Amino acid sequence: MEKGYGQGDPALAAYVEKLFAPEDEILAEVRRRSAAAGLPEIQVGRLDGLLLDVIARASRARKAVEIGTLGGYSGICLLRGLGPRGRLESFEISEAHARVSRESFAKAGFAKQARVHVGPALEQLASIEKRGPFDLCFIDADKVSYPAYLDWAADNLKVGGLLLGDNAFAFGKLASEPSSGDDVPSVPALQAFARALASGDRFRATIVPTAEGLAMGVKIR
Ligand code: SAH
Ligand code: MG
Repeated sequence: MEKGYGQGDPALAAYVEKLFAPEDEILAEVRRRSAAAGLPEIQVGRLDGLLLDVIARASRARKAVEIGTLGGYSGICLLRGLGPRGRLESFEISEAHARVSRESFAKAGFAKQARVHVGPALEQLASIEKRGPFDLCFIDADKVSYPAYLDWAADNLKVGGLLLGDNAFAFGKLASEPSSGDDVPSVPALQAFARALASGDRFRATIVPTAEGLAMGVKIR
């Protein structure tokens, strides 16, 4: 039998949203304050945030890396899943975004468990390597760099560590031929990212069919 990929029924989504109430007041305030500060409203969705929390919890991760902090929304979700002994190293190119995120982490009670590194992630990541290997790495920054972030994660996660990548469906264009438009370079990069994960070289992986596609892989070698 053919089965669809993901679940597009809005009634089911509304039901689950209401039942699981994924966004508490702390996260709602982060969303409001981020928008008021002029940040783009591109944080993970409410249920996707809850998914990050549950996945981090299930994997019993403690040392996590996030690439693309924005206002701290997904970081708080990850930290909740990491538990009281968790630590998050989060990377953000924009000083303004980092400032908002630091306030978010403090307000959520994670001031001592989160560190935000400001600058291009590809230049900054080396500074934490001595604190590795890491248990979990969540990639959600510039899409053209996803293949490079994946290489970094492959070298700096423990075997059994978890790789997560948001927007793995390339905004609906993962299956498309390259065409003209703003997001042109990001589509082939996300295709290369998916190919590398699918190859089985370093990860056993899939794409969880959230609205954006959440790449998820366990480092196997
Ligand atoms: N993970 C966040 C959303 C991240 S949006 C959440 O769900 O709450 C992507 C972020 O990546 C933006 O804040 C952007 O400024 C940042 N970014 C873009 N290019 C980057 C780079 N080269 N290095 C680090 N951060 C980058
Ligand atoms: Mg994203």
